[in-house]
Amino acid sequence: MPPYSPPQLHTPPPRPSPRQRRGRNALLMLLILFVLAALLVNRFEAVERLLPWTKQKPPAITGLHPVVNELSEQLVKKCTALGIHVVITDGFRSHDEQNALFQQGRTAHGPIVTHAKGGQSYHNYGMAIDFALKTEKGKLIWDLEYDGNRNKHADWLEVVAVAKGLGFSWGGDWKSFKDYPHLQMDFGYTIDQLQRGFYPLHEHKAAVVPGQ
Ligand SMILES: [Zn+2]
Repeated sequence: MPPYSPPQLHTPPPRPSPRQRRGRNALLMLLILFVLAALLVNRFEAVERLLPWTKQKPPAITGLHPVVNELSEQLVKKCTALGIHVVITDGFRSHDEQNALFQQGRTAHGPIVTHAKGGQSYHNYGMAIDFALKTEKGKLIWDLEYDGNRNKHADWLEVVAVAKGLGFSWGGDWKSFKDYPHLQMDFGYTIDQLQRGFYPLHEHKAAVVPGQ
């Protein structure tokens, strides 16, 4: 006597026929080919730069990113309107200039001003600026408490607030090494991605400051 088996209430779904399976596999292959092709022609750069093994030929960068450049000018103008004279003291830095700066306070004279070697700073990609204040007498100062426009607020922090409103992030917010004159705009690019040759070529102002 065969062992008892309960009556089947549901009929199992029909197995796909070999023809259906072949169709599905072909579709999958097409999809994979499409993704590979898209990667090859660099259409998916945003995805590709997230993959740590990808690299591309870096664009020749010799100055500030156009958006950073324009927003720096806006920063100066907006601060002038507040009675604060901002001077941009540094912008794009070549790898060599960065390496030289790194030696300051280490093998060269002066205080340590950076923890970044060539290629490790947003300055090396034209995506950072440093600023100072200029007093009425025309002297450059790095005084976080100076209140030149006498509105009972430190000018330095007023500048930082304007800069953040424009989309910059501030080195004074860094946890370990506070870099008070430093403002940067990364457009979502990490240093690692920039080092692998990716660069925000198509970012424009509208993407950074909505409504301006
Ligand atoms: Zn800086």
